[in-house]
Amino acid sequence: MTDKPYDYCIIGAGIIGLTIAYKLAHQHPNARLVIIDKETGPAQHQTGRNSGVIHAGVYYTPGSLKATLCRKGLPAILDFCQKHDVAYDQCGKLIVAVDADEASRLDALYDRSQQNGIEITRVNAAKMAKMAPHITGVAALFSPTTGIVDYTGICHKLVELLTAKGVDFQFSSKVLKLRETSDTVVIETDKGAIHGAQLIVCGGLQADRLADMMGLADDFRIIPFRGEYFRLAQKHDAIVNHLIYPVPKPGLPFLGVHLTKMVGGYVTVGPNAVLSLGREDYDRSYFEPVDTWRTISYPGFWKLMNRFKCAGMSELKRSLSKSAYMQEVHRYCSTISAKDLLPYRTGIRAMAVDPDGNMIDDFLIKKTTRSVHVCNAPSPAATSAFAIADYLFETGYL
Ligand SMILES: Cc1cc2nc3c(=O)[nH]c(=O)nc-3n(C[C@H](O)[C@H](O)[C@H](O)COP(=O)(O)OP(=O)(O)OC[C@H]3O[C@@H](n4cnc5c(N)ncnc54)[C@H](O)[C@@H]3O)c2cc1C
Repeated sequence: MTDKPYDYCIIGAGIIGLTIAYKLAHQHPNARLVIIDKETGPAQHQTGRNSGVIHAGVYYTPGSLKATLCRKGLPAILDFCQKHDVAYDQCGKLIVAVDADEASRLDALYDRSQQNGIEITRVNAAKMAKMAPHITGVAALFSPTTGIVDYTGICHKLVELLTAKGVDFQFSSKVLKLRETSDTVVIETDKGAIHGAQLIVCGGLQADRLADMMGLADDFRIIPFRGEYFRLAQKHDAIVNHLIYPVPKPGLPFLGVHLTKMVGGYVTVGPNAVLSLGREDYDRSYFEPVDTWRTISYPGFWKLMNRFKCAGMSELKRSLSKSAYMQEVHRYCSTISAKDLLPYRTGIRAMAVDPDGNMIDDFLIKKTTRSVHVCNAPSPAATSAFAIADYLFETGYL
C-alpha cells in the first residue's frame, strides 16, 4: 500500500468501475488513480456472469437514465470492441409473442421503442418462421441493433490499457470502512489504508454496504436475485441466428428466460430470477447468515415479497425443477428437451429496493463532497457502462 494520496480511488473492478477509470484516465492523464477490488481480478461478479447482451433499449421508460444511457452506450461498446479487438456480434433479437394477449403487448413495446428512438420492425408468423425456424409464435418484434459481447474480455482489455497508462490496481483488497474529511477520503481495506482526494464507488452487489459506510443507504437496500442459466448441448449451437426473448410479463422487472447466442459460439438459456440468500453464493454451496439477515431484516423486502409472492413461487418452482424451467422455453421453442440442458454459470443480480418495497428501476447515483456512489446499476448497465461514465462527467458528478 502506498502512503501518498491518490487523486482518484475507485472501488470495484466490474465494468462500471473500469469504464469510469478509463474515462478519468483520458480526461486527467496526469492524475494518480487506483482501482481497488476484493477479488483477484476484474469482472468476477455481475459483469462476468451476465447474459452478454448489448441491449438496444427497447424496454426502458422514455426519458429514464436507462433509456438514454443504453441508447448511447450501445455504439460506445461497439466502438471499443472494434478498436481493441474484443469479440462481439450484432446479431439482432426477436421478441416473440406466443398468443394474442402477448401480441397486444408487443404493440406497447413497439411504441416504446419508437419513443426511445430505437430501430424496431414488426415480424409476422410467416416471416418469423424464416428468420427462426425452430421458434414458434404468433408475432414478433425484431431489434436489429441488439448484439452480444464478451463483457469479461472488455474488462480485461480495460485493465491492460489502464495499467499501460500507469493506473494502479489493488486486487485482493476488501474495503472495510470509508471515511471522508474536509480534505481527503480514507479507504480502509484488509490490506491497509489508502488515501485519496476523490472516491468513486461501484460495488455492484455490495453497493448498499459501501454506501452505508458514508451514511448514504437509508433509502435503499440491495436484494440479490439469482439468475440460473443452462448451456444448450452442442448439437443446438446453430438453433438460432438471433437472440430469442419472450414478451416480458407485466409488472415484473426481469426480461424472462431467453435463448442467447454467446460469442463463444454456443447458446445459453436463462436466466430465471430467484431470491438468493447469499449475495455471492453462486453454487448454493454455503449459507451466508450475514447476507440473509441483511435481506430479511429490511422491511422493504417483506413488502416486495408480498407484492410478488405468486411470481416468486413460480420462479422458485422453475429453479427446483428442470421440467418446470423447460415449460418456459417450450412456450416458444419445442425443439429443446430437458436432457439438452447442460450446467452453466449462475449470475446474481443486485436489485435496489426502497423501504416501501419498490424495486428502484432506474440507475441510482449519489454523492458526498468527495465521493460518488453508483448505488443501483442493474441491466442494461453493462451495455450503458461507457455512457454512464460520460454522464458522470457531463452532469458534474466528477
Ligand atoms: C444474471 C444477469 C444477467 C445480466 N444480463 C445483462 C445483459 O445481458 N446486458 C447488460 O447490459 N447487463 C446485464 N446485466 C447487468 C450487468 O451485468 C450489471 O449491470 C453490471 O455488470 C454492473 O457492473 P458493476 O461494475 O456495477 O458491478 P459488478 O460487476 O458486480 O462489480 C462490482 C465489483 O465491486 C467489487 N466489490 C464489492 N464490494 C467490495 C468491497 N467491499 N471491497 C472491494 N471490492 C468490492 C466486487 O468484487 C466487484 O468486482 C445482467 C446481470 C446479471 C446478474
